[in-house]
Amino acid sequence: MAHSNNLSIYPTQREILNRIKLPDNNILTKVEDWKMRYYYKVWSKFNNNDKLKVLQDLSNGLVTPTTTIEYLPTTSWSVTLDPENQNYHIMTMDRNNPSIISLLHEVGHIIHGKSELEACIYSVSIFKNLFPKEYSRLTWNGHMLKKV
Ligand SMILES: [Zn+2]
Repeated sequence: MAHSNNLSIYPTQREILNRIKLPDNNILTKVEDWKMRYYYKVWSKFNNNDKLKVLQDLSNGLVTPTTTIEYLPTTSWSVTLDPENQNYHIMTMDRNNPSIISLLHEVGHIIHGKSELEACIYSVSIFKNLFPKEYSRLTWNGHMLKKV
């Protein structure tokens, strides 16, 4: 979801961390594969455009096969959920900030709907378990993890 100014919809860091869990094996396998293929090998050599492309691959692997996501490079991260069509989504991606945690957050909305808490639980659970080093370098800013 686009992040509005209504802060009350956002969960706290404590609410999120109390609910995070080990992602199921299916997710662990997909994200591990993605890490081996892209993150450990070529991520640091990629320009932002290439990073957005492989983030799209990760995103497509995490949603159901019948889900279509249209990706729009813009200057912010958001996803538009169409109540008429649960299988079609538009995700905007911040071309200046190709971020795994942001991508996972928006995928969390596609899978769990509007709930900010559920989207945060989904994204932080994957990120904390699969990118522990990167997680330790981030800092909490309200409900969001930010680069230090
Ligand atoms: Zn959100």
